[in-house]
Amino acid sequence: MILGSHPDICSTGELFHFPESVLDRPQPCSCGAVGDACPFWSSVRADVEHQFPITDLKRGRRYESTRSLPRTALLAATPGSSVDRYARRLAVLLRAISTQSQRSIVVDSSKYPSRGLIMWRTRSKGTDVRYIHMVRDGRGLLWSKRRTVDGQGLGLTPPEKNMADLAVWWVLSNVLSALLFGFRRNRYLRIRYEDLMANPAGVLEQVGRFVGVDLTTVIEAVRNQRPLPVGHVVGGNRLRFNRALVLKPDSEWQKNLSREDERTFWGIAGWLARRYGYEAKAVSDPRAPGAPSPESS
Ligand SMILES: [Zn+2]
Repeated sequence: MILGSHPDICSTGELFHFPESVLDRPQPCSCGAVGDACPFWSSVRADVEHQFPITDLKRGRRYESTRSLPRTALLAATPGSSVDRYARRLAVLLRAISTQSQRSIVVDSSKYPSRGLIMWRTRSKGTDVRYIHMVRDGRGLLWSKRRTVDGQGLGLTPPEKNMADLAVWWVLSNVLSALLFGFRRNRYLRIRYEDLMANPAGVLEQVGRFVGVDLTTVIEAVRNQRPLPVGHVVGGNRLRFNRALVLKPDSEWQKNLSREDERTFWGIAGWLARRYGYEAKAVSDPRAPGAPSPESS
């Protein structure tokens, strides 16, 4: 959403929601309109449907689950396969979004590694694909799952509350993202959510260089705490309904996450969290006498 406030960049949110959001499970866009009532997404849909029915995009979603990753990886590398065909359809969607928004860069914040692989295939249709891998302290993820009633704030997604499962998921998605995309020189950038919040100007300069866009105006707006305009964001963070975005670090977990949840996370994911520069609070935290050190957990 930060990037989308730049006049050359269109942020779509989690774009994988798009087919459902105009088909059988209409969802509100950030503009307030639901499903096809949003003028932007209905124009995108019309553009796409000149070439194929939107249900094709919905069917392609089956290749995006992490469980289907091996199959997707093989099919994505095979010209003429069903995944290759789906990638070509995604390229049409990206083109339609770019045309309708009159912006040359489209940011899809879907977080499935399999989708990232499929997106790489859209290069055969002339797309230049780059990956921004944003890591967040996994304990923040655990806390956000503890406190939210449902995944979307809309009653649509059943909550996943098993903390050990979530910690494993955090490890898996980060490791897979690094393995699948990290080796692509000049096409992969890893940043930390916490660094973005602590030093937005520094991180955004880095992102701007990576994307090839001068983000000075965005950085100035963030620095002066001017609200950033939110365009037509179709899925993902509930902040999108605020219409204008002001950066505010979310560090609630540090006060609220239970010692038990924190230990669960660190026991499973501490080895990777340390590599990203996070520290186990448990060692020095007076709330937790006798808490296991990261080495012993
Ligand atoms: Zn809209």
